[in-house]
Amino acid sequence: MSGRIVIVGTGIAGATAAKTLRREGYAGEIVLVGDEPDLPYRRPAVSKELLAGTGSFDRTVLEPVKFWVDNRIDLRPAFGVESVDTDRATVRLGTGEVLGYDSLLLATGARARAIDTASTRVHTLRTRADIAALQAAITAGGSLLIIGGGLIGCEVAATVRGLGARVTLLNAGPALMDRVVPAVVSDLMRRTHEEHGVVVVNDVLTTQLVDAGDGVTATAADGRTWSAAAALVAVGSVPETALAEAAGIAVNDGIVIDQHYRTSAAGVFAAGDATTGFHPLRGEFERGQHWNSAMTAGAAAALSILGHPATPAEVPWGWTDQHGVSMQFAGWLHPHDELIVDGDLDGKDFLAVALRDRRPVGAVALRRPRELRAIRPLIAAGEPWQSAEPVAAH
Ligand SMILES: Cc1cc2nc3c(=O)[nH]c(=O)nc-3n(C[C@H](O)[C@H](O)[C@H](O)COP(=O)(O)OP(=O)(O)OC[C@H]3O[C@@H](n4cnc5c(N)ncnc54)[C@H](O)[C@@H]3O)c2cc1C
Repeated sequence: MSGRIVIVGTGIAGATAAKTLRREGYAGEIVLVGDEPDLPYRRPAVSKELLAGTGSFDRTVLEPVKFWVDNRIDLRPAFGVESVDTDRATVRLGTGEVLGYDSLLLATGARARAIDTASTRVHTLRTRADIAALQAAITAGGSLLIIGGGLIGCEVAATVRGLGARVTLLNAGPALMDRVVPAVVSDLMRRTHEEHGVVVVNDVLTTQLVDAGDGVTATAADGRTWSAAAALVAVGSVPETALAEAAGIAVNDGIVIDQHYRTSAAGVFAAGDATTGFHPLRGEFERGQHWNSAMTAGAAAALSILGHPATPAEVPWGWTDQHGVSMQFAGWLHPHDELIVDGDLDGKDFLAVALRDRRPVGAVALRRPRELRAIRPLIAAGEPWQSAEPVAAH
């Protein structure tokens, strides 16, 4: 197969797709277009070592320049793709250039969900370019309000405490990271944050962020207020679907894809955080939001472009690092699941497995990455759980 494949987005989905195409012997042109100015890099480092200032950017790049050159992957950062014409099978780049494609892969990722505010002291964190302003705000004022108790809010709380700033985390939900971990693990992580000096307030819906004096004030729906030198809004992400929508491609909380990563437009594929697709193991539509899922999707989409059969679906998993605690999680937890815990919760060394109708549906591990890996095929198989009795319900 030859011709030209254009990939939009230099995140892990787009970059992996480009690498996979070459590895699988695709001989045609590969154009990998990004709107960030950098080489493709590990985004998870943004809220961890890059924000902390403990890791150099060079160590977060996926591959050095030489790799892209040697593999004849035409990497075009900075200007992005402005529009797609599916009738003509062309894309218009931010540079004004128009490129034809045989296949197009949209790997446009997501952006941070915002809260409407006129304050310039309110930040979001998604890209390398977002880091400097947040670092400057913390250094200057020494205090940060974090709106959102999901993975990124919690990670930033830990990182910023590590830098010595005072941190107040305002979470709309009843428990931290409750989209991915059960209540007992949320509680454990809340205690861990508090032990490190983070003020955690659950069940608080922030409705307003306004400048006040030389800082910013958050007001909750119930009238309570909190102030700090700066605020970070970490209330989830929004799939980046603008290009697809403008091109008339089907979108429904993400670019809609089938199991071959095909969109509603002929020759146009999509992968990663920008997409939504039916997950056969879950039995529902879902939008991936983890590094590993986006990487797997990028590889699978490349294979589909080359005409390979559909790649079998996998149980998604992710990880987070907070206050020196490394946590992995997998599958799909629900608050009503039964939970079995192997190990020591308070000692932060355990594997917790969520069961629904006695079948494993999700898992969380602290300091047990291998056991978490071993559970994923069991979740995929959906066989009844044999090995232990329930010790906690969440
Ligand atoms: C701060 C942070 C920390 C994270 N930490 C973890 C973690 O610890 N563990 C974990 O499992 N997951 C983590 N994630 C999630 C993980 O990084 C994402 O799931 C993953 O990066 C998604 O990859 P992607 O390639 O689909 O999209 P993205 O990484 O969002 O990349 C998409 C790229 O496309 C670009 N783009 C968009 N529109 C255009 C256009 N028109 N033209 C050209 N380019 C365009 C975007 O600017 C971006 O560069 C984290 C995410 C963030 C933001």
